[in-house]
Amino acid sequence: MRYANVIIDISHEAVDRPFTYIVPDELVSQCHPGTKVSIPFGKGNSERMGVILALTDHPSVPVAKLKEISSVVLSQDATESRLIELAYYIKEQYGSTMIDALKLVLPAKKTYRKKAADKEPYSDEEVDESRGMDIILNEEQMSVVTDFTGEYDRGVRKTYLIHGITGSGKTEVYIRLIHHVVSRGRQAIMLIPEIGLTYQTVKRFKRYFGERVAIMNSSLAAGERFAYYEKAKNRQIDVIIGPRSALFTPFPDVGIIIMDEEHEGTYKSETMPRFHARDVAIKLADMHGASVVLGSATPSVESYYHALNGDYGLFELSNRATGAMLPEVEIVDLRTELKAGNRTMFSNVLRQRLVETVSNGKQAMLFINRRGYAGFVSCRACGKVMKCPHCDVSLSEHRGKGILVCHYCGYEAPKPNNCPSCGSKYIMSFKAGTEQIEEGVKKILPGVRTLRMDGDTTTGKDSREKILKAFGEHKADVLIGTQMIVKGHDFADVTLVGVLAADISLASGDYRAGERTFELLTQAAGRAGRGSVPGKVVIQTYQPDHYSIVHAASQDYKAFYEEEILYRDIAGYPPIKEIMAVLISDKDEDAAYLAAVNLSGLCRAKGREVQIIGPGKAGIGKISDRHRYVFYIKADKKEDLIILKDDMEEWLDSGAGDSAIPVKVAFDFGPMNPF
Ligand code: ADP
Ligand code: ZN
Ligand code: ZN
Repeated sequence: MRYANVIIDISHEAVDRPFTYIVPDELVSQCHPGTKVSIPFGKGNSERMGVILALTDHPSVPVAKLKEISSVVLSQDATESRLIELAYYIKEQYGSTMIDALKLVLPAKKTYRKKAADKEPYSDEEVDESRGMDIILNEEQMSVVTDFTGEYDRGVRKTYLIHGITGSGKTEVYIRLIHHVVSRGRQAIMLIPEIGLTYQTVKRFKRYFGERVAIMNSSLAAGERFAYYEKAKNRQIDVIIGPRSALFTPFPDVGIIIMDEEHEGTYKSETMPRFHARDVAIKLADMHGASVVLGSATPSVESYYHALNGDYGLFELSNRATGAMLPEVEIVDLRTELKAGNRTMFSNVLRQRLVETVSNGKQAMLFINRRGYAGFVSCRACGKVMKCPHCDVSLSEHRGKGILVCHYCGYEAPKPNNCPSCGSKYIMSFKAGTEQIEEGVKKILPGVRTLRMDGDTTTGKDSREKILKAFGEHKADVLIGTQMIVKGHDFADVTLVGVLAADISLASGDYRAGERTFELLTQAAGRAGRGSVPGKVVIQTYQPDHYSIVHAASQDYKAFYEEEILYRDIAGYPPIKEIMAVLISDKDEDAAYLAAVNLSGLCRAKGREVQIIGPGKAGIGKISDRHRYVFYIKADKKEDLIILKDDMEEWLDSGAGDSAIPVKVAFDFGPMNPF
């Protein structure tokens, strides 16, 4: 006999808990996760509508107490059923409660009244009305479009990867693919990384799709987002552009899902369920009969591996669309600079190039790779670092405000006048950031006009856009920034890109460090020489021989991939092996440790063909007073990891670990960052 967990009344506001029902024999073939059913409910057995969340052979309630499903209701709302099925998939694949998964895919209903002062994040005002397809595709672009549309019209549905160098014209290709699918009456979802939406891109989409395209960004209020969702449901729009939550737009008939910059880490959710938008996009496409198009200049090692294997179709765009040349790249060995007595942050080469560029009336971008690094505050006399009392991390100084903040828990404290340890007055923030570079630039070129873009200068709404716009209008000569400035921007006057310390990201110590470094450097280099004057790139590093730096300098993705996949194979990391992190946290350190030992022990006892590493204390041992332990499981097949995840969930649900409960346990498949 089969049983169904049924949820009653998905009100969008609060999702109820599920109840178990018997599935009568004659309905078995019709009952699936997401199916709407009519069920007797409560003491009076009044008929209510419900949705099946899951089917099981082993109900957690005594069978004698169960009632039967009365009938299957042909769903009035296929879109909602589909999203429920998607929620179920997410729960199964990534480990979360069904309720959390439903909250993710079914946004809270919020009414939204447009205020007179409201402006769309990107207004139509400046869009030039001439909507025409005036760009003539080049041969490479054309062949992608013809191949895709040819297959699409023959009914082929699959996942494609467009590997196209920076500036190869991928966006123009996306627009044509979307146009094709939309002209056949279907809808399109275009995913972009959290901060990846440039003004230029918005403008181009508006020209082609006008009022039929909606653009979501993270500053959109929940009510506004809901209003877009309603429009999508009612077929008032055909295209949605947005970050990973745009996947849950309730379109009735999605024909294509595009994922630009598919390698981006922000496509992975950092909260439970820790889903990856790529996997969910592929699943959603499967449900709709849609195709998926992934695009990047630096594809994730996973996606390129699948493309080479034939799991994905592969397209290559190897030339810049405007005919511009790829920039000339110089690698500077910082060790040699130091030996030669240069103690500044600027090598002689970079200093020279900077002076040349600015005096020729061109622009430069200076990029500091600061991932995993926050400016900390310490005592110059005794070396004491100011730390958050709740987290195992150093505090950083909020610019100019004399306030120390913790970026993990939000803890704030005034900067002390005297060192709490030795009493000295010399408490300083360690600046190896954008401010210091700015000072350096001004010393080299007095009177130079600079703009800075980092976490401090982009806290206000639209401040990012304002900085980029000003730079685009050549109101500054030099733009200095963190990884924020390397994504997708297209400035014709930029002829120099300088990377001040290329290898910081190599120190992060996880298996993606090389990939991340290659990606950042390639994307940064890709900003130079977009216009008619060829660009120059200077990469400063202490590891000039590292393969991720060498291949980024020659803009050779394939050479990088060959070395990287070899390393992944030898060390046993994705995509060769699958890996799952299990993170256990609790306010009581012993409880967290015990649960980690028990859970890893449980996995070992299952005797599957997996490798278990740990448990050990997480890299950041404490966040918000919760102690963190982690262990990793490696397997050949993801299914083996999912089975172990299910085993652990079952064990936790059953209360077997009693003393260790209620610790928090999070599962992370293919973790993006070390814990
Ligand atoms: P990518 O997304 O691959 O980095 P973009 O789509 O942003 O590249 O295109 C880079 C630049 O080339 C843009 O300014 C775009 O308008 C221009 N472009 C794209 N396709 C063509 C084409 N076929 N002919 C001329 N210019 C083009
Ligand atoms: Zn001190
Ligand atoms: Zn903290």
